Amino acid sequence: MIAPLEPLIYDISRTGRIGFSLPELDVPETAFPAELERDIDRLGLPEVSELDVVRHFTHLSRLNHAIDIGFYPLGSCTMKYNPKLNEDVARMPGFNWIHPLQPEATIQGALRVQYELQNLLAEIAGFDAVTLQPAAGAQGELVGVLTIRAYHQARGDVKRTKIIVPDAAHGTNPATAAMCGYQVVTVKSDKRGNVDLEQLAKLVGPDTAGLMLTNPNTLGLFDEHLLEVADIVHKAGGLMYGDGANFNAILGIVKPGEVGFDVMHINLHKTFSTPHGGGGPGSGPVCAKAHLAPYLPTPLVDKETKNGQDRFFFRELPDTVGKVRSFWGNFGMHVRAYTYIRVHGAKGLREISENAVLNANYIMNKLRGTYDLAYDRTCMHECVLSGKKQKQKYGVRTLDIAKRLLDFGYHSPTIYFPLIVEEAIMIEPTETESKTTLDQFIDTMLQIAREAEEDPDLVKNAPYTTPVLRLDEATAARKPQIRFRCFG
Ligand SMILES: *Cc1c(COP(=O)(O)O)cnc(C)c1O
Repeated sequence: MIAPLEPLIYDISRTGRIGFSLPELDVPETAFPAELERDIDRLGLPEVSELDVVRHFTHLSRLNHAIDIGFYPLGSCTMKYNPKLNEDVARMPGFNWIHPLQPEATIQGALRVQYELQNLLAEIAGFDAVTLQPAAGAQGELVGVLTIRAYHQARGDVKRTKIIVPDAAHGTNPATAAMCGYQVVTVKSDKRGNVDLEQLAKLVGPDTAGLMLTNPNTLGLFDEHLLEVADIVHKAGGLMYGDGANFNAILGIVKPGEVGFDVMHINLHKTFSTPHGGGGPGSGPVCAKAHLAPYLPTPLVDKETKNGQDRFFFRELPDTVGKVRSFWGNFGMHVRAYTYIRVHGAKGLREISENAVLNANYIMNKLRGTYDLAYDRTCMHECVLSGKKQKQKYGVRTLDIAKRLLDFGYHSPTIYFPLIVEEAIMIEPTETESKTTLDQFIDTMLQIAREAEEDPDLVKNAPYTTPVLRLDEATAARKPQIRFRCFG
């Protein structure tokens, strides 16, 4: 099943070949302590030249897909192009070479970037305070729900043991609520993909700590009754958590903090174009309204002005839920997101979302009819199709369609998610793709639908052009072989 690969680095090893050179010894030679010696031969390290190593790793890098190689319509992940300008700015020596333990007085520029980014995100999202500490979206959720818990506890309101999570939420939402010690209560979606208001009204009560709403949700839909949902939860004494990972759909159009959310996380490594998916560490800032701000993880960055001179400094909060990340968060991501926001400005941010939504609706409307549509209404930044028809008529599953796409140089969309859509195909084109790319992708999806009809086995046995062909998915997940074994 596995196509021939280039030789592994162990195969190109030749005894005596080396890839480093050291300057001549200019200090007295001493004996190496015997107890620290390792049996190098037993390790079986490859012996290779510098060029061998460069070729080996460059080759490996080419076996993978990346946003810089081709279209990456992975729903919910916002795999948009990350402008290289962000990289240039993050590599400026004043940002790149500072040490996390340097005194504040020597890193005023870096602190200013964090301070201004906090304020920019608060403004864009409509909140009062922002922490840049969380290292990912899921960690942002953890932080957000911990602040909700701290809020209730500070008021002596300790009977709130449940968090309500819609069935169209991202999977991390129920996991987060459970990790914070809450009982997860599921509320269903109605026929239009909104939270079912009638069921919600029955579920809330004095034991409701809050509701976690992914909005737009994983169906790519904006909840049409958002204000009512927030109202029902607030009237019961609960708080609204916003999963803002999908902020790409509503930048400059909706401020979540003004439509009922008390706390929300943002994924810099989606909406604000910092690399992800193996390309870099993430960053999941959390935005809070004033009543939750005292509990945010620290440090925050603050500013004081004396004699017309600004001074930026790290601020602790007495009631913080604690520290969640070493040092000061993933600073390199903050620089990239800051650059991205400053380059686009308010008007540009709005255009980002308008184009993201336009692109998703374009794909949805070109593919409807050929593929089933889970919820037939205008979508936001992503659309959810279903391969139900292809499965029932020709025995071609969504998995097969996803595999066939690889032959055309595309990354697969997200599949079998959200769980409430049978044979789901969740496509998020993002705003950075041209109409040419979208049209090529649409043509490919239409071609695969024809193949499913005329030659189902062609689709079922795909892919044919990738370094590794069809894998045994179950064994690959349960018994992954992720390292080369040179000793049997
Ligand atoms: C990506 C995503 C998350 C989780 O973010 P990570 O940075 O991967 O932890 C949460 N919710 C939604 C809707 C997402 O798309």
